[in-house]
Amino acid sequence: MEYFKNVGKSFVAILKGLRVTFKYLLKPAVTVQYPDEKLLPFERFRGALLFDAATCIACNLCIKACPSDCIALENATNEAGKKISKVAWYTIDFGKCNFCRLCEEACPTKPKAVWHSLDYELVFSNREEMVRSWRKGDSWIGVWYDSVRKQWRAPEGQLPLLPEPQRH
Ligand code: SF4
Ligand code: SF4
Repeated sequence: MEYFKNVGKSFVAILKGLRVTFKYLLKPAVTVQYPDEKLLPFERFRGALLFDAATCIACNLCIKACPSDCIALENATNEAGKKISKVAWYTIDFGKCNFCRLCEEACPTKPKAVWHSLDYELVFSNREEMVRSWRKGDSWIGVWYDSVRKQWRAPEGQLPLLPEPQRH
């Protein structure tokens, strides 16, 4: 008798479980098939920083605003050797960056010359790759210097979420 009671209880438990399964079976899915499908974060999400050398006026305001001391730049010069309001190079050390957005907020240009993208897929295979650099003509995502291969390389560990990043 005890045996049949246990079988009955188990059957009822299975039916209860299936009731929950069927309740959600026909509802729209709230999950996505990552990484084939990727959700876009909110507009104010602070992803990897991007930089536009053509927009930057080398004013140093982002450097002064940065609490982690991770930005550096050098002014470009004209034929007479005088500094001009353009960058010769600009770097951000992602190893020190805390993604606080203070650099973007301090940047006076419209659109911003430095800004957070929505890119949350950001991995580094070594310390050198964390030091992102930009010179005139480099893409917004920048490059890093590989001292082993002795060459500038495009970051492979950052996957751009949008073909054209949002910029304020
Ligand atoms: S996000 Fe913050 S820590 Fe990172 S570079 Fe900008 S100001 Fe510095
Ligand atoms: S990124 Fe913006 S704040 Fe920084 S130097 Fe360039 S123009 Fe100035």
